[in-house]
Amino acid sequence: MEPQLAEAQKIRPVVLGAGVCGLYAAHTLAKNGLTPLVLEKEEVVGGLAAGRRQGENYYDFGVHHLHAHDREIFEELQSLLGPRLQSVEKSALIRYGKGFRRYPLQFMDILKGIPPLELMASVSGLAWQSLRNRFQKQEAENAEQALIELYGKPLYRHFFQDFTERYWGIPTTELSATFVRTKMPRLSAVDVLKKLMGRFGLKDQKDASVESATLEETLYYPPTGARELSMSMAASVEKQGGLVHLNTPVEAVEHQGGEVEAVVFTDSEGRSRRQECPFLLSTIPLPSLVQVLRPSAPDEVQHAARQLSFKGTAVYGYLVRKEKILDALFVYFRDRIFHRLAEPKLSGLQVQPPGHTLLLAETTCDPGDDRWLGGAETRARMVSDLEAEGLIQKEDIVETHVFVQEHAYPVFRLGFEPYLDTVQNWLGGIPNLRSVGRNGGFCYPNMHGAMRMGAEAAFELSAMSRKGGVVEGHP
Ligand SMILES: Cc1cc2nc3c(=O)[nH]c(=O)nc-3n(C[C@H](O)[C@H](O)[C@H](O)COP(=O)(O)OP(=O)(O)OC[C@H]3O[C@@H](n4cnc5c(N)ncnc54)[C@H](O)[C@@H]3O)c2cc1C
Repeated sequence: MEPQLAEAQKIRPVVLGAGVCGLYAAHTLAKNGLTPLVLEKEEVVGGLAAGRRQGENYYDFGVHHLHAHDREIFEELQSLLGPRLQSVEKSALIRYGKGFRRYPLQFMDILKGIPPLELMASVSGLAWQSLRNRFQKQEAENAEQALIELYGKPLYRHFFQDFTERYWGIPTTELSATFVRTKMPRLSAVDVLKKLMGRFGLKDQKDASVESATLEETLYYPPTGARELSMSMAASVEKQGGLVHLNTPVEAVEHQGGEVEAVVFTDSEGRSRRQECPFLLSTIPLPSLVQVLRPSAPDEVQHAARQLSFKGTAVYGYLVRKEKILDALFVYFRDRIFHRLAEPKLSGLQVQPPGHTLLLAETTCDPGDDRWLGGAETRARMVSDLEAEGLIQKEDIVETHVFVQEHAYPVFRLGFEPYLDTVQNWLGGIPNLRSVGRNGGFCYPNMHGAMRMGAEAAFELSAMSRKGGVVEGHP
């Protein structure tokens, strides 16, 4: 047997997907003396946090800053990247009312943004709702009810309804209340109002939304973009004897007697390969994993997996003949074609030629629609909205590139929970398999959250197989 082939074929733990979750998991395994095989279907590592090179410049899929909330993960990445992990103070704005306000919205800012009559209606709506929540025992049945419970009807109408529906492409009545509880950052302005009301005995018993995003924070970003995070982890995995195969979608996951035995894929020479593994850590979308299981999962599980859907995103990247465009690292918009603009040069991205900058415009979409395809209508609307905001003129744009991802956001559709439970419970019966990360866990971590999920799954699986004594190369 050729030495390279023998090397590839020894029993290895397998990781599906080379996004930050899969790579951090593989890096953790490699640090523990294992030699994982990572299979990635794309031509680059990084998944949602990958960057694409176009000419001399690097375009993130929306700017991807690293947060440092998880000290251990942050220090691990710092040890891989050293001084390339540059720090930058967070600054975020939201287009609101007649101008730009700090994001998350602050109490005084929200006051300034709402016309006086509407403001009175919003405050009394919130107070009325808090009172109602004390007596109303019924759980919210959908996202609309959950948002009204949290903010009251006037504020829901004023601030949330249109934007949420435009973002997801479905009415709030078709989104699950779980979405509001676990995904939607609440307005810190409303937190302040609620605290004030609490002092007057109007404490809300039903308030279970996620915490507001922080206003002040140090973020981290490498000079050629977020791609460096993934590239440094992939290099570390390979340096320690692991393998990262690009352009290699998994074709089958074989399981027998309640355990995963092997994965099947086609190698770079076009040969079909079967890799035996003591355990499998998957970060690919949950329905894709169910689809490649051999033998197939029961019909009920396959049906449930097909009900789990995702929202795609397109990022329009512009090379612009201007030194600087934005007044913050990123700016949110509620009524433009783009939901968020970012200018990664402000975070330290090197941009060529001098005197130019990059602008990244994010918009949600579905495969095949005009936004996804970079169609003439969307391109024109993007530019006219940027011009209307006074940010650039059409003549300033030197290049336009469109990047798309089908699995950008798991959609918490009304009634998705039992389907997710069915899939997760069935997969939970295979002890040497974990499905984690943003799309593998069908949840909304940021990068360090996804990496934490990968690290924990890697620890659990390697501890379990160490007990069974099946992992080759383990100390
Ligand atoms: C527009 C946008 C902006 C964001 N900004 C930030 C930010 O600033 N900071 C932050 O911390 N987080 C940010 N996030 C969140 C962050 O991108 C994700 O949480 C994180 O990248 C998820 O990593 P993951 O490895 O779990 O998933 P993914 O990145 O989706 O990785 C899964 C990998 O599996 C591969 N794959 C899929 N199918 C197969 C198959 N059949 N075989 C083999 N491989 C397969 C995919 O190609 C992909 O590489 C942002 C997300 C979006 C959408």
